[in-house]
Amino acid sequence: MTGEDAEPFGLDEVDLEQVMRDAELPSLLPALAHLLGDLSILDDDLRPTISSAPLGLEPQGGLSEAAQERARRIAVQALRAWVRQGRPMPATPPPDRLRRMMEFITGPVGEEYLPLLHHQLGIFPEDDGPRWHKSAVAPDRPFTVVVIGAGMSGLAAAHRLREAGIDFLAVERHEEVGGVWWENRYPGCRLDTSNFSYSYSFAQQPTWRHQYSTREAVLDYFRRVASELGLRETIRFGTRVVSAVFDEESGRWRLHLRRRDGSAETVEADAVISAVGQLNEPAYPDVPGRDRFRGPAWHTARWNDEVDLAGRRVAVIGTGASAFQVIPEIAGKVAELKVFQRTPPWIMPTPTYRALLKPGLRWLFRHVPHCHRWFRFYQFWVNVEGRRQYCVVDPAWNKEGSVSARNEALRQELISYLSNAYADRPDLLEHAIPDYPPYAKRMLRDDGTWIRTLKRDNVTLVTDPIAEFTEHGVVTENGTLHETDVIIYGTGFRASDFLGNMTVVGRGGVDLHEQWAGDPRAYLGITVPRFPNLFLLYGPNTNLVANGSIVMFSELEVHYVVECIKTLLESPHRTMECRPEALERFYQRIDEASARMAYGISGVRSWYKNSAGRVTQNWPLTTFEFWRLTRRPVLGDYEFR
Ligand code: NAP
Repeated sequence: MTGEDAEPFGLDEVDLEQVMRDAELPSLLPALAHLLGDLSILDDDLRPTISSAPLGLEPQGGLSEAAQERARRIAVQALRAWVRQGRPMPATPPPDRLRRMMEFITGPVGEEYLPLLHHQLGIFPEDDGPRWHKSAVAPDRPFTVVVIGAGMSGLAAAHRLREAGIDFLAVERHEEVGGVWWENRYPGCRLDTSNFSYSYSFAQQPTWRHQYSTREAVLDYFRRVASELGLRETIRFGTRVVSAVFDEESGRWRLHLRRRDGSAETVEADAVISAVGQLNEPAYPDVPGRDRFRGPAWHTARWNDEVDLAGRRVAVIGTGASAFQVIPEIAGKVAELKVFQRTPPWIMPTPTYRALLKPGLRWLFRHVPHCHRWFRFYQFWVNVEGRRQYCVVDPAWNKEGSVSARNEALRQELISYLSNAYADRPDLLEHAIPDYPPYAKRMLRDDGTWIRTLKRDNVTLVTDPIAEFTEHGVVTENGTLHETDVIIYGTGFRASDFLGNMTVVGRGGVDLHEQWAGDPRAYLGITVPRFPNLFLLYGPNTNLVANGSIVMFSELEVHYVVECIKTLLESPHRTMECRPEALERFYQRIDEASARMAYGISGVRSWYKNSAGRVTQNWPLTTFEFWRLTRRPVLGDYEFR
């Protein structure tokens, strides 16, 4: 194994020692047990520890050096045995043996967890796809669906609807799939969660080059999924939904579409699935004078490639996830960069954030069947309830700046990282340590690049609040005019304004946004009283902060919606509509649980909350609870007509 892309397969050509050094042993051992059907590989003494220290997991599942060496020897023997056998594809393990392989990672789990584990391992397609087909359930009943959006959730919906044999049309306002990954073209854009978790269980990819992929790689993944699953021909690109109106007489939805060329069309559907996401409509600072600025100005999610930033004076407003990625990319080009920070972010030190996956690991993923699945499974399990414990409020805790002993331990580690990193710049350190608890806002990742960038001679951190924008730049409250040539808004999204760019009218002519009145609520984040057969994906209270995976949640939501459609098709009814009591019961739980999370109690402003301070975005319960609740609709929660 020499070069990054060298792909020798034979074990004689590859440097097995390096492969083993690079391997993630907690997932390699069950992968090899699966490969050979040999459970003796899974020695109890080599079992990984899953408990997470404040700054993350122990490398190699916390195994001692000696245990790691033994695990590597076992793994080499297993690989050689597999090659001697002619590299056969592994047989599907019987359930009890598969359970033992999975439990090597998870430890003993209750029976109820197994379907979720199978789903995430993704070895058996039937474990997560619909187990029914319309042709068997209701062959003669016409039923069509419109899916709005062909981003991460929309593609998952299209795939599953097709598997179930349900007619649908997907409508996408852009010319390509990918949603936010298509829209966000700013330099430096990349995943800050692992791409192994941020990918579908039904389309796992062994060829990721990074753990945290670039925007191009993520977009490329979605494009390939769309092509390989044959979804492109189901999508009408360059078309936006202007309005969706429920017609009570027919029990159907009428959607008004507008194409890029201005032409309009009306389509009807029995059900509508919104897959427009949470982070698609840019938010701008609520500060006077934005229109007065004479130079070019744009939002990170609407990147302007036509302006060359080289040699210009640039102001970036905000230090959230988007600004945090763009600032290091442009700092080296511009003459002067002013970073306007209102609130500092907590930073999780992540040395591998921009690093390529180790070559040995990549070799294993490419050549050893299912190895990447087990790696993903390990990451899934680590995250499933993952760091939630660091986020939960201890009611007895009364120390400022943290919400529990664990949260405080994390806070101290993060402070110590920042204090070391800025030891030579007390002026920056003074503004680097947040006064709110970790996980009250989104945690960001840095491999040192951010810190180095802020220390550059041409970069200035401005923490005086912005008072107004003028023709020439940004004026802060102390009266300083920061003259600039370009303003870039890294000021986030109108996240609480779900489906904000379309009109949605339900039963009795009620307007969705009027009903919500700035406080969006949906049962399981999916259904809304008075909006029959309208299903939301990545809707209210389905975003994740410290546990689970957004892609997995979207898959679970899609599963639920497809089960709802099956329920309808099996019934004599045309529509199902969430009962207000079910929504109320649900929100009692959600709001109580949110109040016990770091992002819920603190007075900190964030996109997790609406303007009234209620957490409208996040799922505060466990991942398993979402899985349980989305298995199938509880009939009593719905009114059928
Ligand atoms: P954001 O997290 O909402 O950050 C907006 C930033 O603008 C904050 O720093 C905010 O300060 C600041 N701001 C707003 N108004 C301001 C004003 N008047 N003066 C000064 N600063 C102001 O938005 P985002 O960075 O676009 O990220 C949104 C979400 O998108 C992320 O949390 C994440 O879920 C997703 N995202 C993901 C990735 C990824 O996976 N790699 C990358 C980018 C975004 P305050 O903190 O004081 O409000």
